[in-house]
Amino acid sequence: MATTSAAPGTGKLTKLEVRNPSTNELLATLPVHKAEDVNAAVVRARRAFEVWAALSFGERRAHLLDYRREIVRRMDDFLNIVQRENGKPKNDVASELLLVTSHLTHAANRAEHVFRSRRVSSGMLPTFRSTVSYHPLGVIGVIGPWNYPLFTPMGSIAYALAAGNAVVFKPSEYTPLSGKLLVECAQAAIPVPDLVQLITGYGETGSALARAKVDKLAFTGSPATGRRVMAAAAENLTPVLMELGGKDAMIVAADADVKRAASAAVFGAFTNSGQACISIERVYVADSVYQPFVDEVVALARSIRVGTGEDAHYGAMTMEKQIDIVREHLKDALDKGAKALIGGLDSIKGRFIDPVVLVDVTPDMKVMSEETFGPILPIARVSTGDEAVRLANEGKYGLGSSVFAKKDGQRLAAAVRSGMTSINSVIAFAGIPALPFGGVGDSGFGRIHGDEGMREFARIKATAEEMMPMPGFSLSFGDPGKSLEQTRSVLKRVYGGSMLDDVRGAFGRIFRR
Ligand code: NDP
Repeated sequence: MATTSAAPGTGKLTKLEVRNPSTNELLATLPVHKAEDVNAAVVRARRAFEVWAALSFGERRAHLLDYRREIVRRMDDFLNIVQRENGKPKNDVASELLLVTSHLTHAANRAEHVFRSRRVSSGMLPTFRSTVSYHPLGVIGVIGPWNYPLFTPMGSIAYALAAGNAVVFKPSEYTPLSGKLLVECAQAAIPVPDLVQLITGYGETGSALARAKVDKLAFTGSPATGRRVMAAAAENLTPVLMELGGKDAMIVAADADVKRAASAAVFGAFTNSGQACISIERVYVADSVYQPFVDEVVALARSIRVGTGEDAHYGAMTMEKQIDIVREHLKDALDKGAKALIGGLDSIKGRFIDPVVLVDVTPDMKVMSEETFGPILPIARVSTGDEAVRLANEGKYGLGSSVFAKKDGQRLAAAVRSGMTSINSVIAFAGIPALPFGGVGDSGFGRIHGDEGMREFARIKATAEEMMPMPGFSLSFGDPGKSLEQTRSVLKRVYGGSMLDDVRGAFGRIFRR
């Protein structure tokens, strides 16, 4: 939790006080970087980029694996700092560290393959050698949220570094110490000064980074801030990657394994107090399995322990203002006729919120359409999997989703409008580094993770090299009349033929292989 010495937005904030959300203890005071500090960091990063980009993939790989080892060496520091700053149990921090190190390993090992130059067909110009090659962009600005303060920014930082870029990172004002530790590890492990730099502060510092002359900005946060960041980045036509909010749906089909689906729903909805962009925020259950599913969810949710101790399943809400949103959504649902099978408004106890399971929910309720980002699990009854897909697709978000079905999982998953779907599981896609991560609609655009995520941080170069003169292809103006006749004849012969010609051509290609 951060507190301020003046109201946010006044431009007069000079320090960032970091507090423990569970106890309000002051953990540290950090600087608030101004636009000139941010710009200077970007200038330094550009110098570091020149050094880093000149290394071979093998050299960069070795340094990134050292970075990974340094993170593991400082594991206890991470466990303590993230737990105290964010409020989540150490067990959750350890899981986050596992994700971070697996992504770093994947990015380090995969970069050389992903960025290998490719020869492509030269089409109508067969005497040309056509190549697609990949080059680092330069300096990447990374702005991260507080809910997964390690995993989320590393989804950009690891892949940006592996692609040969430098990074300037602005963590959330609520979790700057976690960000600081990530940067300290990079600085200790990679002998290129200023390759990964930290800037701290409030929204204004993030806004300065969006306006700075970076080569790409990778933003993770809410759609509202994302829009502001895009507007600021537009000033320099800086390309942006947007990882925004979610309202992930789970679909439980009639033939689903009900016990497994219920357990996954409870874990997916309540992990990290529901403060995950890919939390399960709504469940649609087929009529025939509705009651056993609800009974199982209720039984499991009753056994959840909330608190600060080692045995807690989830901890404090990190941000005070998020508690107001959870209360508002819950009240709206109860006022409109939802029934709480577990908990209710009195589940909100200071910084901690006990699990709430809601039934009789309808699409007009905020819990079914807006991002709640808290430990509430609303369950709706549907007649078929297809009806569930239709309802899941009604919202403005499209980040992740989950389908439980024995027969129809692939078909239902393909029909859900979201960037990622787990079948007979939840959240699994985030733990598989080769899978691209990102959403559609208000959940943003662009991808982190996987080959697609790695290429987000590369400049793509197309090269056409003439290997020998091409008959009929002249780089002079020549005789326009003759040229027109030639082109007309080529158009007719090559693209004006019958479908039979295309089929013959296809067979010809197969036999030529
Ligand atoms: P915010 O949008 O409030 O903040 C995100 C980051 O942007 C923070 O570092 C914040 O700094 C910074 N920021 C605030 N204002 C500006 C500005 N004007 N210009 C530039 N940067 C600014 O999100 P939260 O931190 O509250 O995170 C929760 C949201 O993030 C949820 O919507 C969640 O779904 C989403 N999220 C998405 C993920 C994904 O991969 N799609 C993953 C994780 C979370 P400060 O904190 O200092 O204000």
